[in-house]
Amino acid sequence: MANYVFLGPPGAGKGTMADLLADETGIVHISTGDILRQEMKAGSEPGARARQYVDEGKLVPDEVVAAMVTQRLGHDDVADSGVVLDGYPRTVNQAHLLDRALKENSLRLDAVILFEVGEDLLLRRLTARRICRNCGAVYNTMFDPPSREGVCDRCEGQLYQRSDDSEETVRERLKVYQDQTAPLIEFYQNRGLLVRVPGDREKAANFAVLRNTLEDL
Ligand code: AMP
Repeated sequence: MANYVFLGPPGAGKGTMADLLADETGIVHISTGDILRQEMKAGSEPGARARQYVDEGKLVPDEVVAAMVTQRLGHDDVADSGVVLDGYPRTVNQAHLLDRALKENSLRLDAVILFEVGEDLLLRRLTARRICRNCGAVYNTMFDPPSREGVCDRCEGQLYQRSDDSEETVRERLKVYQDQTAPLIEFYQNRGLLVRVPGDREKAANFAVLRNTLEDL
């Protein structure tokens, strides 16, 4: 079973590609952003700690996120089906915490996939992103609109815009990525794990490249 980290700036398509890969192969998709949004909705203690950071586009403290990931990695489905970590790690410290969590669960990282997308496109993708309240399907009013405005094609749920997808917060998230997450590129390159994949085309084309890349590893 293969285990991957999907790395890249917000809007690079990590979540979309991870969803497609999970649908096709059964690999487990762990998104720390999704887990945090669930915890905030549920009003849990970690959710309450995370809210302010998420709303401001800042990183939630490492120990809060690491505890969630470590716990989730211990479930049997990860050992059985492999895992894509989407949005984790986001700091070098988190990468060290991940090493420890993988080791504790006798898991090994096979590759770190870096999705490369120019900043203009990231901004356009994020500010036009809409998500289904009911099933979580992701749309884009510019590049991948639903057939009926504001309504999910899959389940007819209502679409909404993430509050941290406003232009101001997106700019902060991109800055945080450059400052705190981009150092992971060199970190994983030095370990011989980094694989670069272009993410600037439309969904199906990006996924085709990703599939071929993973098959060739
Ligand atoms: P995402 O859905 O991956 O764009 O994440 C949304 C927000 O959740 C981020 O802007 C952060 O505030 C928080 N977050 C997600 N993953 C992490 C992480 N690994 N470390 C710290 N904060 C995170």
